[in-house]
Amino acid sequence: MANLKGNTPHSALAMQIVQTALKSDCSVGELAKLAETDPGFGIRLLSVVNSSAYALPHKVNDVPQAASLLGVDGMKNLALGLSLSQMAPVGPEGELLLGICLRRGVAARLLAERMGMRKRADDCFITGLFLETGLLTWASDDLRAAADVARWPAEARPLQERLLGQMPHPARGAALAEEWNLSEEIVSAIRHHHDEVAPSDLVSKVAWAAERLAAVFEGSAPETATKNAIHAGAKLNLKEKMITDILDAIPTLVSSAASGFNRDIGAQIGFEALKQQVDQKLVELNQNFHTMVHRLERLLGEKEELNARLETANKRLAQLASTDGLTGLFNHRAFQDSLKRDLHRAKRSGLPLSLILFDVDHFKKFNDSWGHQAGDAVLMAIGKLLLASVRIGDVPARYGGEEFVIILPDTPVEGAHQLAERLRVFISNLRVKVGANTLDVTSSFGVAEVRGRREHDAAKLIEAADTALYAAKHGGRNQVVQAPEALS
Ligand code: GH3
Ligand code: MG
Ligand code: MG
Repeated sequence: MANLKGNTPHSALAMQIVQTALKSDCSVGELAKLAETDPGFGIRLLSVVNSSAYALPHKVNDVPQAASLLGVDGMKNLALGLSLSQMAPVGPEGELLLGICLRRGVAARLLAERMGMRKRADDCFITGLFLETGLLTWASDDLRAAADVARWPAEARPLQERLLGQMPHPARGAALAEEWNLSEEIVSAIRHHHDEVAPSDLVSKVAWAAERLAAVFEGSAPETATKNAIHAGAKLNLKEKMITDILDAIPTLVSSAASGFNRDIGAQIGFEALKQQVDQKLVELNQNFHTMVHRLERLLGEKEELNARLETANKRLAQLASTDGLTGLFNHRAFQDSLKRDLHRAKRSGLPLSLILFDVDHFKKFNDSWGHQAGDAVLMAIGKLLLASVRIGDVPARYGGEEFVIILPDTPVEGAHQLAERLRVFISNLRVKVGANTLDVTSSFGVAEVRGRREHDAAKLIEAADTALYAAKHGGRNQVVQAPEALS
């Protein structure tokens, strides 16, 4: 939960309270004792409990009383709230961000209360408070960038984040909340608060609507935003009047919630005053803005899709660049790269590495007697055979023409000899059909190895295998010859 901790000692204590409250056997007394260990936290606890955001019927004067009034869940929520408020840095940008969080918290609480969910009002407040967690944590890395995004109308922020190459704050916030072990309810509400369609889960739906109510105060077209808010309220079965009443109440409650957290976030413009500011030009501007946002969203979606396709194409290209078209085996370049890598590993591990190099006997005659396609058919048949007969980790490749090579990491030359012998027999048993004819194929093999924890020379190893192969040809073909000794 490191990221939830701010830089003041209160936040560490607040997180300790959250952690304690998450334990199933936790008592209010235990939490109150914890809260009393820090007078600063105690003062905040009282000031939050006594703020109008909590709307208690009478003033509370001591920590245990406040704690028992709030209960375990209440204390946990309070500690979460304090932690969140401490994530917003001091200064105008931090206050802008804190205001955005509190607005959602207050809106969610009021919605829950109007819906008759009094018992869940606190949870809804905290859920609303955490909706912009993604933006807040981004602010701790890059305050200016996060604040710039926060100055955009609420509904345009995820798009702005994508344009800046950032993960949009609903996804980012949800991932963090998950990491912090916040409840599944909060995580889901954060993830879906910018969805086009209202989520079905009740708390998520309240948070989703709170986002739309808060947006009224955070854009250039309050009239359109109010319509959206009323529309969102209808999803909670709340009438228009209830929503406008909530909108009226939000600014004052946001200020008092801020002072409950000991923060001054400046004057909050009232809903009535906001409506007075509306002029036609702004409304038109807002409509243009929305058209632009939709276009940008489409373009961005296309760009993201193109990027994904480009990535697939690049992967395919890399694959093509390293495979031989005829046999599907690694080509010469990929073989050289692979050999270099495997020789490095062999040097580090000290394990032997062997190489099998083989060449089809009298290959020219296939081409000459049956045509080039007959020769190709033989090469393809050998490619298939190789892929089917080597172990994972072994690297079969087409060295060039009718020559093949296999890198065998962690394999002594005796093992390589055995495999070569097996392949020799397999190949001599191949019956490659060309039209009505069956071709008999044989190959000659050279094997060589390197050993020891030292630098190995790829060219020398290939040369040793090639010399052995040459000896096999001279010895009468269709046989395996092993290089006289391991290279070191
Ligand atoms: P040896 O037993 O001494 O190896 O005799 P060989 O006929 O196999 O050797 P040589 O090097 O004289 O001939 C190899 C032939 O392989 C010549 C070349 O045209 C042919 N070749 C090389 N690559 C391909 C290919 O991709 N397809 C076909 N069909 N033929 C190829
Ligand atoms: Mg040959
Ligand atoms: Mg050859």
